[in-house]
Amino acid sequence: MTSSTPPSTPPSTPPSTPPAPADLVVHGGTVVNAGGSAAATVVVTDGRIVAVQDPALPLPPHRRAIDAAGSFVIPGGVDPHCHIGQRLGEYSQLDDYASASIAALWGGTTTVVDFAIPDPGQRPIDAVAERRKLAEISRCDTALHGCVIQWDATTAGQIAEMATTGVRTIKLFTTYKDVVMAGPDTVLEVLRTLHAQGGIAYVHAEANHVIEDAQASAVAAGEAAAGHMPRTRPELAEAAAVAQVLATAEHVDAPVYFVHQTTAEAVDLVRAARRRGVRAYTETCPHYLYLDEGTYAGDHPERFVCCPPLRAPETVAQLRARALVGDVDTLGSDHCCYSTGQKSEHSHDVRVMPNGLPGVETRLPVTFTQLVVRGGMPVERFVGMFATNPARLNGLTGKGVLAPGHDADLVVLDPAGRRPARIADLHMATDYSPYEGEELAGWPSVVVSGGRVVLDADGFHDPGPVGRALHADPMPDHLIT
Ligand SMILES: [Zn+2]
Repeated sequence: MTSSTPPSTPPSTPPSTPPAPADLVVHGGTVVNAGGSAAATVVVTDGRIVAVQDPALPLPPHRRAIDAAGSFVIPGGVDPHCHIGQRLGEYSQLDDYASASIAALWGGTTTVVDFAIPDPGQRPIDAVAERRKLAEISRCDTALHGCVIQWDATTAGQIAEMATTGVRTIKLFTTYKDVVMAGPDTVLEVLRTLHAQGGIAYVHAEANHVIEDAQASAVAAGEAAAGHMPRTRPELAEAAAVAQVLATAEHVDAPVYFVHQTTAEAVDLVRAARRRGVRAYTETCPHYLYLDEGTYAGDHPERFVCCPPLRAPETVAQLRARALVGDVDTLGSDHCCYSTGQKSEHSHDVRVMPNGLPGVETRLPVTFTQLVVRGGMPVERFVGMFATNPARLNGLTGKGVLAPGHDADLVVLDPAGRRPARIADLHMATDYSPYEGEELAGWPSVVVSGGRVVLDADGFHDPGPVGRALHADPMPDHLIT
């Protein structure tokens, strides 16, 4: 075109100035998304991905380049299940948003989703506001699940108000009676009301009456200590509650997400419901895929007490098989930071001691090792469970995908690298890791969060309290994994 323009004609557009350099290019690696992978260069400017380009093209002008040769470049992790500095009864978790988010970033997770569990008598909406305040010191982006315990005349209005503030997921517990348990009527109302807001309920499903009976018989037998944890929460309690909640969801035509499923029976119920048209989803946790109930026979059974408990080896194998074929949608850490001292104080009675395992920092290496390295899972499927699906199931547009327009959250990891998990090398506010000494793959070598390089060969670079409180968008009315 320009060659045919007479030289006397002034140019119709002003002379182009050289483009501003990109903030960052990550080149030489294999860019992995849930939908596929390819050798590519990721170009980042102003906290966003502006291009994912052919590696044969010359690098655009840039301020910083990271060589990812031989490594995967995956989306920053979205951890859909974290408990951060939560106070429950007489125990408070030892972390806060600063330490939890720093540990998350070390472990390749760039978005954490916490739970606003109301204190006794507190309104769910006030619990959300309180958590949002606590999250102001977060180093990574954050989102929240609300929590409803008892339906009353104000609850529907609170759910609508929560949605306008960007909270569209609500936790429901079918157990812990008189503490946080929601009865079946409340479950039904929340499922129905939340659906109208483009949201989804996150359900902890264990049949309370079965748990209470199992606990009572364990106490009567003098077997209520941490080492007897599995007998106090039998596997069938999980499937029983999942079946009831699925029937409720089907009845009101609402989507439902099950946190921390541990058994093949429970996962299979969700898959069967999907074949009937129910939009139901399965989350599991690293510990249910990697550890088994043998840990309760060890020196520190209290360190492994979580609800549901770690299961029999054959159950773990069955769950892992379900995950490998794609029957598990997400990986949530169910991160809970208690010390060995807190967990051992009342370890003679599992009804009293604090539950939960620290894990926001080890979610990536534990599951990458168990599913991709040992299980042969395609890395694209893994990325779906680690980042893409949790982003979609929380309405977090812009997260979990490496593509132009998305947030520049990414992790570089060398799949051939190996390093043991050691509490001395970890950053969670506790004194133990459930994976101490385990030789794991998938540790991040570089972590970029919101376009900032927070971890590289020089170590960790604390970005300060830059984490944003994300607003969940309404979720579509069809299956989204
Ligand atoms: Zn939890």
